[in-house]
Amino acid sequence: MSRGAFAALGATLGGAGFAVYHGQVPTSQLYGRTICRVPEAEGMIALTYDDGPNPRHTEALMSVLDRYGARATFLLIGRWAEREPELVRSLSEGGHALGNHTWSHPTMPLRSSAAIHEEMRRCREAVEAAGVSFSKVDGEELMRPPYGRRRPGTLRAVREVGYVPLLWSITCYDWRRTATVDKLVARGSRARGGDVILLHDGSDKAPDADRSASVAATDEILRRLTDQGYRFVSVPELVGEPVDAPR
Ligand SMILES: [Zn+2]
Repeated sequence: MSRGAFAALGATLGGAGFAVYHGQVPTSQLYGRTICRVPEAEGMIALTYDDGPNPRHTEALMSVLDRYGARATFLLIGRWAEREPELVRSLSEGGHALGNHTWSHPTMPLRSSAAIHEEMRRCREAVEAAGVSFSKVDGEELMRPPYGRRRPGTLRAVREVGYVPLLWSITCYDWRRTATVDKLVARGSRARGGDVILLHDGSDKAPDADRSASVAATDEILRRLTDQGYRFVSVPELVGEPVDAPR
């Protein structure tokens, strides 16, 4: 069941909050069905990691997640996935959800529908070449627009080819130069049931970018919030999709 979750979001936004939400990024639902927070998912939080897989950090991150019995969601850049098929397989075998984050991380609103379709297709091919497929919600595969940037045409273009956009409700700003582990932990630890946290295990700039602060912050965020009784699940689990037990 995930339609209920979307319907509930729609109902919230249909009320007085609508005008306020519209101006906010990335919680706006104005452009159609988008996942960013699932208020019904009491006691559950979804960690999401963009811009990998990263040969320097993704494996260490998986070990941290494993230590807390946490499953996360990874939004992969196609040209990095093509270089690291083993990591893509490990993520899937570890029970983590995978989504399409395009081939080359373009600013989507500046691209034509045809170019967006091509970006989605090439990323999909890289992941399928590793023998893995993207995770689904309600029959649609997860994707996240680079930088969270979108306009109605952008999201129409990805929905046309069978994707549901995933945004987030809490960002840790781990891409900022001023990011420190303490700052990331302070932001991430604000999460409550139903929140989707944005972090990065990679970067669109380099295939092996330094994300040690994000990995260290993940450890502390998990420690604090699991102590408070929260369970860390993949995005399909957060929206109530039946999910196979990890192999
Ligand atoms: Zn990204």
